[in-house]
Amino acid sequence: MPERPYTYYDFTLSICSTCLRRVDAKIVFEDGRVMMLKHCPQHGFEKVLIATDIAYYKNIRNYNKPSETPLKFNTETRYGCPYDCGLCQDHEQHSCLTLVEITDRCNLTCPTCYAMSSPHYGRHRTLAEVESMLDRIVENEGEPDVVQISGGEPTLHPDFFEILDKAKARPIKHLMVNTNGIRIARDFAFAQRLASYMPDFELYLQFDSFRPDALEKLRGKDLTDVRKKALEHLNALNLSTTLVVTVQMGVNDDELGAIIDFALQQRCVRGVTFQPVQVAGRNENFDPALHRITLTDVRRKILEQTSVFQPNDLIPVPCNPDALAMGYALKLSDQVFPLTRYIDPALLLDNSRNTIVYEQDEVLKERMLDIFSTGISVDRVEENMKQLLCCLPQVQAPGLTYDNLFRIIIMRFIDAYDFDVRAIKKSCVHIVHKDGRIIPFETMNLFYRDDKEYYLKTLQQERLSPVL
Ligand code: SF4
Ligand code: SF4
Ligand SMILES: [Zn+2]
Repeated sequence: MPERPYTYYDFTLSICSTCLRRVDAKIVFEDGRVMMLKHCPQHGFEKVLIATDIAYYKNIRNYNKPSETPLKFNTETRYGCPYDCGLCQDHEQHSCLTLVEITDRCNLTCPTCYAMSSPHYGRHRTLAEVESMLDRIVENEGEPDVVQISGGEPTLHPDFFEILDKAKARPIKHLMVNTNGIRIARDFAFAQRLASYMPDFELYLQFDSFRPDALEKLRGKDLTDVRKKALEHLNALNLSTTLVVTVQMGVNDDELGAIIDFALQQRCVRGVTFQPVQVAGRNENFDPALHRITLTDVRRKILEQTSVFQPNDLIPVPCNPDALAMGYALKLSDQVFPLTRYIDPALLLDNSRNTIVYEQDEVLKERMLDIFSTGISVDRVEENMKQLLCCLPQVQAPGLTYDNLFRIIIMRFIDAYDFDVRAIKKSCVHIVHKDGRIIPFETMNLFYRDDKEYYLKTLQQERLSPVL
């Protein structure tokens, strides 16, 4: 019989990358890669690269755990996912991290900016608006794990410190500020004031490359000196910092190992978050559906480019395993001990088995599960990590603190090409909309920003009375 050139693996729903209407999609394995095949009645057939590591992709399914929901949902499930955000009743994960965009303005105009920020775009949110957004997060989450003050560039907001005070006055476990570091580099007194918000406070600092030409491409500007000066200030203050690397194929994907090695040398740096991004077709030969950098590419490149981590150190995060991979290491003076490898991932979630090679195995298992279950919430990690270390007799490390933890995260955001309704329901990085809805980061950028909502209404209407 005639044979197909692929192996059929799964069925899901996606959206057409042109009209954003919901379409059926198949997941298939072809030439060692995971592909999505979908068809829009109006715009035809699409084939999209999803992952370049079939074994890892299949393994994602082993990291599912019961969903944790928010205390309340904000919208009805009416039009079908992803047109009901949110969060609607149908969502399968609460907000592990919620972004509050306090301004549209930025002192850069990065070509990669999803929010289209610039010095003149949009406006700052008023203090009252920001407070009501913070209140909405607290209503939904009770004690939110991580709230990230973002923008635009949040440090430009005239009431920036007042906003931090307002956030700190609420029961938020861990507060982060997402920044390009320009203000921190230029003004040490500003950095000092930021440091006064510790503990449970951390910076998410843009850090993409050591090469001026790559920075020009990603940020529109050579920011080498800004990065250097910002880190100098943050190291002096030991202000907890995560370096955030936007990874673009052919631009900086050969620097991932060097960035990790550099990060390990910085006193203030607690980890690196890698975010693969796609560029829309600027080049006619560039097909954004097939020439994509996937989570598995980033993971493979990290493993190839650094000797610190092995494959069993970078594993899916159960709260949102399609989008997040994570690895922990201990930083002890000039030595690094990867931790994730000490756990057999097959045992991590398998309740039916109880033989594990370590002493106090049940405790160890529980602790690791706890750590990974909290996803990107870092506040509970220190406590868990201390307890975990009791279970690893070979690591002698008294007096450990959060400073000793080093964390690698790969955070991949679904776009219109690789959109998968199965996976989006587990999205756990959310944005609080100015009208109070809590919206997954990915669907926000596709449907719920001001310039997109008009079109969304059309799609919603069609769902109620489909055009034949
Ligand atoms: S992504 Fe989540 S909140 Fe949005 S429509 Fe789907 S289930 Fe609802
Ligand atoms: S620094 Fe951030 S907010 Fe500003 S333009 Fe660049 S990506 Fe956008
Ligand atoms: Zn279409």
